[in-house]
This record gives sequence, C-alpha cells and structure tokens, in this order.
Amino acid sequence: KKNLIEVKNLKKHFKVGRNQILKAVDGISFAIKEGETLGLVGESGCGKSTTGRTLIRLYDATDGEVIFDGMNVHKLNKKEMKNFAKETQMIFQDPYASLNPRMTVGDIIGEGMDIHNLRKGKERMKRIYELLETVGLNREHASRFPHEFSGGQRQRIGIARALSVEPKFIVCDEPISALDVSIQAQVVNLLEDLQKEMGLTYLFIAHDLSMVKHISDRIAVMYLGAIMELTSSNDLYNEPLHPYTQALLSAIPIADPEASKGRKRIILEGDVPSPINPPEGCKFQNRCKYAKDICRQKAPELREVKPGHYVACHLVE
Ligand code: SF4
Ligand code: MG
Repeated sequence: KKNLIEVKNLKKHFKVGRNQILKAVDGISFAIKEGETLGLVGESGCGKSTTGRTLIRLYDATDGEVIFDGMNVHKLNKKEMKNFAKETQMIFQDPYASLNPRMTVGDIIGEGMDIHNLRKGKERMKRIYELLETVGLNREHASRFPHEFSGGQRQRIGIARALSVEPKFIVCDEPISALDVSIQAQVVNLLEDLQKEMGLTYLFIAHDLSMVKHISDRIAVMYLGAIMELTSSNDLYNEPLHPYTQALLSAIPIADPEASKGRKRIILEGDVPSPINPPEGCKFQNRCKYAKDICRQKAPELREVKPGHYVACHLVE
C-alpha cells in the first residue's frame, strides 16, 4: 500500500519566556500507509499531541516537511488548506471539553458540513441522523445537548463530528484515556469498524502501550520530542530493541503467566529532562543503564535494523 503521509525531519519548537525554546518535536521522520493505524506512544509531555497537531497543520511546523497525498502540507495556499482541513480531522482526549455545551448535538455534527458547504437543509439533517446511527447513537439525540451524555457517548459524538466531512485521515489524540475502562474497548472497536468500512487512516496517540496494542498496525515510541523505536505492533511487543521501549513494556501487567515468564519490571531511574534544554546526544542517556560516552556526544539516528524495524540507539546493531 502507498503512503498517505510522509513526515520528514519534522520540528515544532515553541518560544517560551524571553529567549528560551521548547523543543516539543525535534526532528522526527516516519510514514503512515493508506488504511493503516500508526500508534504513537510516550509519556505525557513527550510531544505526541504536538506531532498530531503539526501533522494536520493545526500548528505550523518549525522545520521539516509533511507530505499528505502528494501535497506539501505546510506550503498549501488558502484554498488548498480548506480542502486539506476537510480531509484531516481530529478526535480529542477530553470528550467533555471538546464539544460546545451551547450547541445541540445535531449542530455540532453538522458544523463541518456547513463550513465546507457539503449538505444543506433536509440532506444535512439526513446525514446527521445517519452519522448518529453509524456511531451507535440515534436520531433523537440530535436535538439534545452534550451535557446530557456520558463520556463514552460524547466521544461517539466527537467521532461523528470528525466523520461528517468524510476525511481520509484522523488524528485520535488519546481518545480513550479519559473514559472508564469498561467503555474503552467499545470506542476502540467502533474506531476499528469505521476504519474498515471507510478506509480511514489513523494516527492513534496514547501514553500507555497497553492501549495501542490491538488497534495499531505499527507503533512509534516517542521520548522527549524524538522517535526511539518504530516497528510493527507484534515486533514491538515481542522483540523491543530500544532500552526505553523495554522499560515501558515491562511496566504493563501481563495476565498470562506463561507469557510473562522471564520478564522483569524495569524501573527507570531519574526524570525526563526538560524539553527546553534537552541533553546533547541521546535524549534518553540520563535514564539509560547502557549509556556510554558516544551516547552523550552523538544523537543516535532512527535506523532500520531489520526489515521495517527502526531503532534510535547506538547499542543496537
Ligand atoms: Fe541508551 Fe545510548 Fe542507546 Fe541512548 S543510545 S538508548 S543512551 S545505549
Ligand atoms: Mg497529549
């Protein structure tokens, strides 16, 4: 399958205070194939959300490129940008904060169609009803307000809103993190069904590897604005090569005692350094028990060490 998105050495830096620079995303490269789900995992503050937002140009890039369907996203003119905004949508972490409390559910879902001049009057209403049913709600819900719904239902409304403009690509920014555990699987299943039906491509952001395992075809592990490892979901779980991935994985409880044999919990010492003055060389060096001189001198590049398996670590052959 062809790549829908290619990200090349993307950087997003923010000015903070007088003359300090926060390097939220600091030179990342990867691609997402059409119809694929790429999981993006890392602790809070590692740059995952900023990556998602910069990919669909909710933020302008500081440097580097995003190519979407052959278009250079950060060079689009106004008219191209409007079309791009229709093809790329976002589902937010907090289903309570992301829906306008003064709008009816119908108008929340219909707003994108209005902005993009897609459907009017009866056709618009018909489409809103269809979308409500698609996400497991019903047409009576169109005249109600967000506060009348549970967290899981609100996330379904957020999904219907994203689908209303028939996007190709959706950034799912921790869409299940704020939901009850009992509801999480339902929302993940819904996203998977919709993907199959509509051929959608996802970037699925999460802070915990256990949340992305089932939905992701491939997973990228992010740390302090950089990608540490990127490979298929299976490879990442069965054969993690980066010391940081190994530590993240070791923290996931395993129900099956057979599978957890020989697996020890790795406790990471130290804190994540500030993205304002990230260390030279490998960004993980102060927490890595394998760190050597070279790790402090030179940043390891994300290299393909086996077909399709990318790692940024000097130690991995
Ligand atoms: Fe550890 Fe060095 Fe590898 Fe970084 S490059 S993860 S410090 S061994
Ligand atoms: Mg976030």
